[in-house]
Amino acid sequence: MSAIYSLYEGSYSVDKTKVFKPFDPKIHDPKDRPGSLFIHVHPFLIDTPNGLVLCDAGLGHRQENGELIITENIRKLGFSPLEVRYVLMSHLHQDHVGGLADTKTGEITFPNAKYVIQEGEWQEARKTAEPEIQEIFDILEKSNKMLFVEGDGEVDGFIEFKHNGAHTANHQVFFIDTELGKCFFGGDVLPEPEELFVSFVAKYDLDGRLARDLRKQYWEKGREEGWIYLFYHSKNITIGKAEQKSDGTFKLVDAV
Ligand SMILES: [Zn+2]
Repeated sequence: MSAIYSLYEGSYSVDKTKVFKPFDPKIHDPKDRPGSLFIHVHPFLIDTPNGLVLCDAGLGHRQENGELIITENIRKLGFSPLEVRYVLMSHLHQDHVGGLADTKTGEITFPNAKYVIQEGEWQEARKTAEPEIQEIFDILEKSNKMLFVEGDGEVDGFIEFKHNGAHTANHQVFFIDTELGKCFFGGDVLPEPEELFVSFVAKYDLDGRLARDLRKQYWEKGREEGWIYLFYHSKNITIGKAEQKSDGTFKLVDAV
């Protein structure tokens, strides 16, 4: 039977410097972090009959023992990083790519996976990402494991990718068929569940209006078709689905 897991990496604040600082509400005060966004980071691991699928790869932070948080989280669930068959990348910002490779060992983290990346996103990130992220990309490039895609299409009959832009020029979303239903990974065009219920234009998007319109479509279509939504930056529900209330409107509930 399929299963879906959040690989929770922690709570962070991020400001103009784009540095992700750990944020623990018990010891830190949001007032000390002016102009910051407060987010959680959750890559997702989906166990499917076709093998393990990873949706985005986290920040690349390490445990005290030096191990990447993402691989430790996968092991804690009883799997090995070697079992991951697909790494689906919504886009290539630093908080999504950090766990793709280990810069200490110079090895990719998931050597038996296909890394599904929009070609245009790769070209852009190669020009613009910070040097420490380029190091990760250098390792990936040498691995020959990247599956560059363009526009819309499918991979091995159960993963659908769709170019949607909005957050970056070549951001993509994924639909993954599982025995639990169709999973929708909206990356940073739909990073938090609250955004389904408020119409707003975010400054951090390349095209905030398009992102807003897409979120509306994703909610309308997804609740009709029973999608399982995966929210990468959620502070609340991370794996959710729509449920109709007695007054006919819809709310989001935990899907697992
Ligand atoms: Zn992000």
